Amino acid sequence: MVFLDHLHVRRLDFPDFPFSLLLVRPMLRTGTVTDEQLSILHFLFGKNLERATRIVDQRGVKRISGEPSGRSIFQVVGESRRKEEYLCFPEHYCGCYSFFYDIVNRGEQLCCKHQLAARLAASLGACTEVRVSDEQLAVLFSKL
Ligand SMILES: [Zn+2]
Repeated sequence: MVFLDHLHVRRLDFPDFPFSLLLVRPMLRTGTVTDEQLSILHFLFGKNLERATRIVDQRGVKRISGEPSGRSIFQVVGESRRKEEYLCFPEHYCGCYSFFYDIVNRGEQLCCKHQLAARLAASLGACTEVRVSDEQLAVLFSKL
């Protein structure tokens, strides 16, 4: 399996980074996604890739940054009719049901579609940037 060999090498080279993040790094330079990168992302994330790209296409990812600290959190819109928004750290946490059920509980996925959408949007420069005070950010964090 070519993809797996490729990933294995990349993981050894950069042990401190989640490997899925490495895959989107080349997009950061070019702002585009090659067919090979899409194939790898699809291999890793399956249906969640398609769902995440739909969210990015709808401009459903906000990066909320506090000033002056520069700390940030993502707010990602859901796909249900209610269009609820989930607070999300791309590497560690999402407030959605799937994060607790599929990732924490069952360990079946690497991340949820909101986390993936946040990573893709950040890499592609497709986030809506929102600046708030550090106090306002702290209030958001207190809701996690
Ligand atoms: Zn989620």
